[in-house]
Amino acid sequence: MAATYTELLDETRKTIPTVTLEEIKRRLDAKEPMVLVDVREKDETRAGYIPGAICVPRGFLEMQIESKVPDRNAPVVLYCAGGVRSVFAAKTLRELGYTNVESATLGFVRWKDLKFPIEMPPQLTDAQRERYSRHLLLPEVGEVGQAKLLNAKVLLLGAGGLGSPAALYLAAAGIGTIGLVDADVVDASNLQRQVLHATSRVGMPKVESGEKAIRDLNPDVNVIKFEERVMSDNIERIFSGFDVIVDGCDNFPTRYLVNDASVWMKKPVVHGSIFRFDGQVTTFHPAAGGPCYRCLYPEPPPPHLAPSCQEAGVLGILPGVVGTLQATEAIKLVLGQGNPLIGRLLTYDSLRMKFGELKLRRDKNCPVCGDAPTITSYVDYEGFCNLG
Ligand SMILES: [Zn+2]
Repeated sequence: MAATYTELLDETRKTIPTVTLEEIKRRLDAKEPMVLVDVREKDETRAGYIPGAICVPRGFLEMQIESKVPDRNAPVVLYCAGGVRSVFAAKTLRELGYTNVESATLGFVRWKDLKFPIEMPPQLTDAQRERYSRHLLLPEVGEVGQAKLLNAKVLLLGAGGLGSPAALYLAAAGIGTIGLVDADVVDASNLQRQVLHATSRVGMPKVESGEKAIRDLNPDVNVIKFEERVMSDNIERIFSGFDVIVDGCDNFPTRYLVNDASVWMKKPVVHGSIFRFDGQVTTFHPAAGGPCYRCLYPEPPPPHLAPSCQEAGVLGILPGVVGTLQATEAIKLVLGQGNPLIGRLLTYDSLRMKFGELKLRRDKNCPVCGDAPTITSYVDYEGFCNLG
């Protein structure tokens, strides 16, 4: 004969070890290893959950638990609102091969009554939940990651070829604050590659044109405009307040200023460069153990050996690829996911359609980030043309 609900619950309860809320609190305080899983529905966990808990609604348990708790021998404690759903959830986990599963005797309602600490989820609006829904579906991003993106501040040096795709994708991803540094105005010859701008905005300052495009794409983004060139006397003011620098400048004086400031201010720089059909990307982040630009090139070449000042041709789509790779790196740095290009130079040859990778090593004799730095203040290198 089929069991009634009460019989089924009683039967299941007998087979699942339970744990009191006081014991959960004790384990949390003692930082004992424990994977807390909240199986309540999304609209319930929005009002808070037990600190450190992973939220996997009961209805998604079978589908999501393996990606969220890959170790089947991990000590898992399940809870819900009152202690019923977690019992059935525990039974399911055992059937999926989880060996160490307990269910809380009571649930979050009692936890709150006991005035135990709770954690609030990031508060996304309904519009944000819809806009970023494809991010929210990724366990590596989710609501917590999206909140990180919305709180992140990324500075783009240059709103040109590399800065254009980077700005658009960072804005689309919901980077909450984007700084644009560019002293130029939009020129018709830019539009072959600088997709942030438009024919209707020729003659407009690039930072203004860029702000228009970004705001139109995503009103969540706050744009901070710096209509100026990076110099030794303004670089710290411009850099301060930003978490990640995306470098799309293509001249030596700026490159060295950017490097030295980022080393001293401990900010990662996602560096991109392009020439004709070839591109390169790397992430300089000495604070995370990687090299800086001066580890590779301690000083700029003498002006007469620097690349020709004549404007170089470039395949229009090339900066699109390289700038998009830079934006990908910036997003990974903000999320703390994946392996950034620290100590690696990614090369891209668009004609042969080949990517390559070179190892970059930190130099302990580097004049800026080495053991005994010899450069401790900004150097304004002169005599180079601006190829930007
Ligand atoms: Zn260095």
